[in-house]
Amino acid sequence: MPSYTPMIQQYLKIKARYNDCFLFFRLGDFYEMFFDDATKAAQELEITLTSRDGGAEERIPMCGIPYHASTNYIKTLVERGYKVAICEQVEDPKTAKGVVKRDVVQVITPGTVMEGAMLLENENNYLASVDKAEGDYMLSFIDLSTGELYVLSVNHFDRLKSEIYNRPIKEVVVSDQLTDKERMTLSDELQLTISHHQLPETIDRASYGDLLVNISHQSLRQAIIRLIHYISTTQQRSLDHVQPAEEIVLSGYLGLDMHSKRNLELTETMMKKGKQGSLLWVLDQTVTAMGGRYLKKWLERPLLDRQALSERYAMVEGLLDQFIERESLRDDLKSIYDLERLSGRVAFGNINPRDLQQLTLSLSRVPTVKETLKTFHSPYLQAIGEALDPLSDLRGLLEQSLADEPPMTLKEGGIIKDGFHAQLDDYRDASRNGKQWINALEQKEREETKIKSLKIGYNRVFGYYIEVTKANLHLLPEGKYERKQTLTNAERYITPELKEKENLILQAEEKSLELELQLFNELREQVKAYIPRLQQLAEKVSTLDVLQSFAVVSEQEGYVKPTLIKEDILEIVGGRHPVVEKVMTDGMYVPNDIKLNSETNMLLITGPNMSGKSTYMRQIALTVIMAQIGCFVPAESATLPIFDQIFTRIGAADDLVSGQSTFMVEMLESKHALEFATNNSLILLDEIGRGTSTYDGMALAQAIIEYVHDHIGAKTLFSTHYHELTSLSETLTQLENVHVSAEEHDGEVVFLHKIKPGPADESYGIHVAKLAGLPGTLINRANVILQLLESNESEQTTNNVKEKTAAFELASQKVDEEDVKNNAEMTILQTDDQLSFFAETTSTSKNKKGSRVEKKLKQLDLMSMTPIDAMNALFDLKKELQKEE
Ligand code: ADP
Repeated sequence: MPSYTPMIQQYLKIKARYNDCFLFFRLGDFYEMFFDDATKAAQELEITLTSRDGGAEERIPMCGIPYHASTNYIKTLVERGYKVAICEQVEDPKTAKGVVKRDVVQVITPGTVMEGAMLLENENNYLASVDKAEGDYMLSFIDLSTGELYVLSVNHFDRLKSEIYNRPIKEVVVSDQLTDKERMTLSDELQLTISHHQLPETIDRASYGDLLVNISHQSLRQAIIRLIHYISTTQQRSLDHVQPAEEIVLSGYLGLDMHSKRNLELTETMMKKGKQGSLLWVLDQTVTAMGGRYLKKWLERPLLDRQALSERYAMVEGLLDQFIERESLRDDLKSIYDLERLSGRVAFGNINPRDLQQLTLSLSRVPTVKETLKTFHSPYLQAIGEALDPLSDLRGLLEQSLADEPPMTLKEGGIIKDGFHAQLDDYRDASRNGKQWINALEQKEREETKIKSLKIGYNRVFGYYIEVTKANLHLLPEGKYERKQTLTNAERYITPELKEKENLILQAEEKSLELELQLFNELREQVKAYIPRLQQLAEKVSTLDVLQSFAVVSEQEGYVKPTLIKEDILEIVGGRHPVVEKVMTDGMYVPNDIKLNSETNMLLITGPNMSGKSTYMRQIALTVIMAQIGCFVPAESATLPIFDQIFTRIGAADDLVSGQSTFMVEMLESKHALEFATNNSLILLDEIGRGTSTYDGMALAQAIIEYVHDHIGAKTLFSTHYHELTSLSETLTQLENVHVSAEEHDGEVVFLHKIKPGPADESYGIHVAKLAGLPGTLINRANVILQLLESNESEQTTNNVKEKTAAFELASQKVDEEDVKNNAEMTILQTDDQLSFFAETTSTSKNKKGSRVEKKLKQLDLMSMTPIDAMNALFDLKKELQKEE
């Protein structure tokens, strides 16, 4: 680097340590960026790229932003997944010898942002770390703004992906333990910011003790230590608000893989990635930011614990029963601010006086909430009320010390109440008295000089002055006034008396500001000690908020309390899809029933496209999830077992975006279900096999149904348009056919959306095409082709289907069952082999029957015939056939 100037050399040295960040290099009032950072930032932030002489031959690319406007620029970069290292001048430029010392004081990354403007109110913002030991993956994650810290372990990378996807994790800290492929998957597929962090060889593990009290497993502890160590090296701020880590034991919660969460649109829709249209959108009637985040957390982790769920139902019922009390509880909760994030800011040291006032106001509501809860009949609600800690001591302290209308900033004073601190009162008196004295002096001067317009003013440069307009100057006595400043129309003067008072006032003001700042810092330190109690209070308030939200939604939407039973029975009467129902403005949602038990645990759903098959399947899954988070459900009645996991394969529009073929995604998601489902799981498979050729797809669909039926025994809903599959109910005893009905009126199809027993009998594809508005001639043409195909099939293929199935079964027997179990991908390959065998069988059978009619039929170019031509040809063929017979 010899040819660079010392400052650029300093820049390059620091940049080398923060290679994966934009380095914001403080130069006077600007943050400057150089070299590649500058080129990239100029593009991302749409700012002008310039260059400067850095001592070398070539000029250095450079761009900069004013430091006081930096927040928005940082926000933009961080939202796009970048990291920003803030490099400040760490010594006073006036006294510096040579280049001013600079160093990085904070690294802002997507997982570590703390500033309110960069955080979504109702959403956690997690930073995670992944460790790997003996094939297991340990995931630890923290929300720095609230101090929540969790850890969990999984035994498969797919599961790790699901756990990460299921939460608002923005950034993952990894070490060399992960393979390049694994890291790429996290960054590209899950779109996370990746930060590398190796733990130093020697590390003081004891200092993490408090955070690890509830965690015994060594590898889990290691993941937490990596995470916290990363934070302390990048943030250099207090972590006093971080709570002891809580282990999430996944077997204690309903398992939902990432595909299911995405497919079921629990917290965001697939198309628009927004909350609107998701289950969360329907259920969210929370009134606090904490409650909003809590509800999301409940949706991320539905429960398996019967007792805990019954308690939640009982509380929702209690809240439902007492409308007036519930409304007053809602009102009380509305004025409680975000206690968790306020606590976080207290610990981080960026709390302002207005925040503390919000804390005081929030605490002042707690006694009212306690009183309101007493008025409920539900013992569980009463118990929460009793357990609410009003933190009266903290409230007393804040009310005593904090001014009634404190400012946002610490610079202007007015933070501390009069009467709280004697010395502060003295300074304030001195300053206030001084100001009174000045008012009196103004009066006196006016009287003495007879100049009515004489006034005493103040500015920062000249201090206090007496101002007299030029027209009145002749009235001033000689000698007494010393001139300070000349304006166009006036002169400003000072007198020794005024100067003396000015010193007193300014000193008192300065001291008072200094003292206020000191008192505020002391107050903040005192509040720190209350953080654990505040966090407990926050948790109870959040719980209440979510439960009241459930009650409000249940009342508005007509939901009922589910009955959880130990028997293997799922019975929903009059069930509805909560989101589809809500967006249907005409209130015409058609409710449907379902009944599954150990004798019938699979439904094969047939019916035309758009009839409501996937809506029906989704509504069952959503009902289960709602029941297992403690909410009431959209039905007339619902009796449910507790499911351990839900798996779905439902056609998704985003398959195309993810770069994998639809069919591959279909197979991967099916594999997931086949590998992990148990007989207590719920599996939804929508149109499996649709992504490949007909026979291929049908064969796979059948093999999957058989596999689930014979080896898993999970409650399964399988929708298909392969009518051939409906005959499976003859051999698979636990499979039942149902169909979604549609009716035809005057040649138009009307979907009734009603699930009925038995298989569907007709395909309504062409009618749907008509409904979609395809040209009339095209529809006529399709009808002719259909008739042709059907007449052909009716004669030839009825038997083929039976043959196909027989051939298929024969081939299936060859499949080594153990292999299938161990490797679902193998199943797919073997099934392909069976297909060629089965294709041969069918073509042989066709050849046997080969006739002139068939040959002629094959030669017909249907696509270029008019309906009349086709009818004529059909007529000829029929005649010919009769002759042959
Ligand atoms: P399929 O899976 O059979 O192609 P969908 O489940 O996608 O059909 O449903 C198609 C449309 O029909 C949905 O978007 C919805 O508007 C409507 N629909 C589905 N089920 C119902 C129902 N039970 N009541 C009223 N409308 C429904």
